[in-house]
Amino acid sequence: MNRITENLQNLFPWITTTDLIIISFALAIIIILLALYVYRDSKIRGGKSISWLIWTIILGGLIPFIFYLMVRSPLTKDEVREIDEKKEVTELQKKYYEIMIERESLKCPICGEDVKSDFLFCPHCFAQLKKQCSKCGNIVDKEFKICPYCGQIFDEKGEGL
Ligand SMILES: [Zn+2]
Ligand SMILES: [Zn+2]
Repeated sequence: MNRITENLQNLFPWITTTDLIIISFALAIIIILLALYVYRDSKIRGGKSISWLIWTIILGGLIPFIFYLMVRSPLTKDEVREIDEKKEVTELQKKYYEIMIERESLKCPICGEDVKSDFLFCPHCFAQLKKQCSKCGNIVDKEFKICPYCGQIFDEKGEGL
């Protein structure tokens, strides 16, 4: 360190030792600030924050800092999580639609032939599968006592259908 100081003072004779101490301090603070920025930013982005902190200090701050900005993950952990959540929602929606499509092609409980969910009667064995509400026209389960869409009450004999 003394030799560096002497060399610098030979090159720039107007620099005093105090100046050098101040410059060193300033450099050290800059390095620490850069290292802390890299550390925090890397932590937010799920990187190896401790390694980045150490390397930024060892390699003198600026170069590792610029290198870090070039190689860091473009997304923060929160952003990654948000994207994952959106993906999950999309997956759930997909599954939901798959189930809905499956429900479109049901089997008749009496004869086992394919029927559709909006069929009132099985076209193969004539069994009643669903009933249509006389008030709102929606197709509901034939066992329902009340129309879930409009509140029409179906009596035992099936009146009100
Ligand atoms: Zn049938
Ligand atoms: Zn109804």
